[in-house]
Amino acid sequence: MTTSKKSPIAVCSFCGRKSTEVKNMIAGPDVYICDECVKVSMDIVKKNSITSFYKDKESQLLTPDAIKATLDEHVIGQEKAKKIISVAVYNHYKRITSTSTLFDEEDIEIEKSNILLIGPTGVGKTLIAQTLAKTLDVPFAIADATTLTEAGYVGDDVETVLVRLLQAANYDLEKAERGIIYIDELDKIARKSESASITRDVSGEGVQQALLKILEGTVAGVPPKGGRKHPEQNLVMINTKNILFICGGAFDGIDPIIAKRINTNQMGFDANVEYKRNLEKDELIKLTQPEDLIHFGLIPELVGRLPIIAPLESLNADALKDILNKPKNAILKQYRKLFRMEGVELEFEQMAIDEIVQIAMKRKTGARALRSIVENILLDIMFELPTKQNIEKCLITRDTVLHNNEPIYIEADRKSA
Ligand code: ADP
Repeated sequence: MTTSKKSPIAVCSFCGRKSTEVKNMIAGPDVYICDECVKVSMDIVKKNSITSFYKDKESQLLTPDAIKATLDEHVIGQEKAKKIISVAVYNHYKRITSTSTLFDEEDIEIEKSNILLIGPTGVGKTLIAQTLAKTLDVPFAIADATTLTEAGYVGDDVETVLVRLLQAANYDLEKAERGIIYIDELDKIARKSESASITRDVSGEGVQQALLKILEGTVAGVPPKGGRKHPEQNLVMINTKNILFICGGAFDGIDPIIAKRINTNQMGFDANVEYKRNLEKDELIKLTQPEDLIHFGLIPELVGRLPIIAPLESLNADALKDILNKPKNAILKQYRKLFRMEGVELEFEQMAIDEIVQIAMKRKTGARALRSIVENILLDIMFELPTKQNIEKCLITRDTVLHNNEPIYIEADRKSA
């Protein structure tokens, strides 16, 4: 395409204006376009691309049921928690997109909804947060609240969590600012006594205050490589406004607090009181209210910043059995794959699985124990297998689990014979 300066014969092919009527006329092969029409065209293209940009953003947002479906692939049970989280996360990312929309006529700001997962150890709290981040393809960092300290004390100060997120985002600041941070063991930084007495655990409260700041949204200057801040260092400024915080904890001892609240509220309804007194811990935890968390020892401001409470249940034997077999990366699927790489089919007798589950139940660490139990059972077998000849199948029996007996090996030719 060439630009011709005011040719006497040129007429804009779009609006019909002559080159004498406009500032510039651009010539193509057998066509002309005037500067006025170029401007109009540019406006149309710009408007269309803005609209499609936001349409694309919206279509990228996974719906709550799509989020839950991916959680279902990895996390067994925990239906209520998965549902609450899917909706919360959907709203969170909708909120981020809506604040950047140019056509937002209403001046309503949607507040951030950080999430608190309450449930015993090893029931899938971290797994849920991790799976979410993977599903949404956002950077993810985990921190243990017990290792965090207030700025100035020995230990990781709270902002190091942000450094980890930045690292997980490969130093892409914009990506990090839309990431997810999981803070485990939040219950361990509760102050020991709710009342402002001498027994109050000030250090726990200090960490809570520091966490509060990043949870509610602040611009924090962090040293990009981590470590302590010092004056000459270049700091990366991270805005935590759109970072989703998921906190988790077992909150051991919160159930009597909840039971007490229910009982006092229900005074006069004796039958009800009796029934509620017998509610099991899981059932009580489902009734957690912000005030219970404050009684437990979290500061009210922090509780206020964790408006979404998702309870997780203890895992029963059936759930543990499913966890061994069903998730996408189920433990037994992983070992089967390892064995298949040796050309051996790995199988477990039903009774062997039942025993593994029983051992895990006794350890009272939820599903956390399963991997080490299976690893332990298979250790000797995996040690010997590569040197064994002609094995087609390895069957783990109840005795292999209980007494470390040899599994049943089935040889290739014997089977075909
Ligand atoms: P916590 O609740 O203490 O954060 P995790 O999520 O870290 O527990 O769980 C520990 C391990 O146990 C996970 O890596 C996962 O393999 C397994 N696990 C726990 N709960 C579940 C679950 N509900 N579904 C599938 N696997 C689970």
